[in-house]
Formats: sequence, C-alpha cells, structure tokens
Amino acid sequence: MRFCTAIILLLFGTLSYTQPIEIDFGALQATKPWAKTEQWEPVPMKVTPGTFTAPPSDAIVLFDGGDLDAWHKPKYGYGARMDQVESIIDWKSEHPEFSDPEWLVKDGQMIVNPGTGAIETKQAFGDVQLHIEWLAPVDPGKEDQGYSNSGVFFMGLYEIQVLNSYENKTYANGQAGAMYKQHIPLVNASRPPGEWQSYDIIFMAPKFKEDGNLDSPAYITAFHNGVLIQNHAELEGPCVFIGEPYYFKHAEKLPLLLQDHGNKVRFRNIWVREL
Ligand code: MG
Repeated sequence: MRFCTAIILLLFGTLSYTQPIEIDFGALQATKPWAKTEQWEPVPMKVTPGTFTAPPSDAIVLFDGGDLDAWHKPKYGYGARMDQVESIIDWKSEHPEFSDPEWLVKDGQMIVNPGTGAIETKQAFGDVQLHIEWLAPVDPGKEDQGYSNSGVFFMGLYEIQVLNSYENKTYANGQAGAMYKQHIPLVNASRPPGEWQSYDIIFMAPKFKEDGNLDSPAYITAFHNGVLIQNHAELEGPCVFIGEPYYFKHAEKLPLLLQDHGNKVRFRNIWVREL
C-alpha cells in the first residue's frame, strides 16, 4: 500500500511539474485579473529632466555660476565635538547672525576663500535630493586630510566628505564620499585633482518625537561621479571630528553648509529638490 502511494505521488509529482504553467490570456480577457494590481493614482508629477547635469525644472538652484545670493556666512559654522555641535545649533536658533559670504566667484565657480569660514544656504532644508559639482585643485606637497578638504554638511550637521582621494591616502572613513567618521564609501570613484567631480545625493533628515527622542535616523544614498558610494546608510548622529556621535533633537529643516577647511576647493552647479 505504501509502495502504491509512493508511485502515485511520484507520477502526480512528475506530471504536475514537468511543464511550466501556461496562462490562457484569451480566456482571461473577460475578467482582466491583471487590472487589480495596476495602480493608477497618484500620478507622479511630470518634470523635465535636465540635460546632463543641468538642474531639472523643479529644482531650487543654489549656485548657477552667477552669484552667492542663496548663501550667507553664519557667525558659527559647525562643531567638531558633540557638545560643541549642540551648543552651536542652540546658539544659532536663538541668534540668527549672518554676514555676506567671502568666498570667491570666478569663471562660473565658487571657490573656498581659506580662513573666511563656512557658508550656508539662506534657505533651510530637510529631506532633499542634492546635486553638487566640485573640484579638488592640484596642490603639490599636500597630503592626507590636508589635500583639498571641504565638505557638504546636510543641515549643517551631517557631512559627506569632499577631499582629493585620488592616490591620496587617508583614513577610509574620512576619504571623499565618506559620511565623515561613520560610513566608508562603497568604492573610491574619485577623479584626479584638477578634474570636476559630482555628487548626487538623497538625504533623509532624522525625525524626532515630541519628547525629543529619535523617531527615525538620518539616511544617505550617494553617487560619486555616477557611481553608488553610499546605499541607504544610516547615520548615528552628526558627523564629528572628535568622539562618538549621538542624536539630539533639532529643527526639521536646517541650512546646507559648505566647509572651509583651508583649501581652495571649487564648486559649481549646485541644486536641490525638496522631497
Ligand atoms: Mg571635510
């Protein structure tokens, strides 16, 4: 009996799975079951893609080669250690003191003017898609973190490193494309110094509960020269030079900041899309 059952199972098994299932689409025309899984609403907003890296139609242009009107110089830039970071953000929220940026604009580029300090956008942002092009100038004799260092700080807190990382050794979580001291880039997609490079980034701001506790951390997805270097990387807090990061409640939107690290790094074609 057991033997017969085994034979029957084997036969059925063989018959059932020798051929892939065929669907008779003609017979299904009456009921169109595929329509059930078609989602027609909401229709995504139509935007005109930019040519190459030009801003798309719905972008907020932060620098198009003309002037620094979208930027100003904060009295205090960014912090190197968590206690300093918190104190700066606190201070800024109470004392919005700014002056004109002293960075240079030349040949359609904005150039860090070493020693004049960081600049930040007049507008505050939360979740964004950012496009930014940058150039690490050829600077013989410079090395490590001293070779064309700058940085893009989302919300003035979360830094993706800008550095010449083309044959320039430094700590991996501090090279170009690193979420500074938190996430090493997946690959090194750096171009040589003297050549323009791009970052295309999706930054999701951290969200906080009423009581100040973290609701959702910051996430970053980044492409360096079109190559994925950060894939939905979760941040542990602001990117700091000294010590361990942690989250503290801050505004939903804060300005985008560019770092003056003492090197004449250049930027062009900067735009964001709010998400
Ligand atoms: Mg930097």
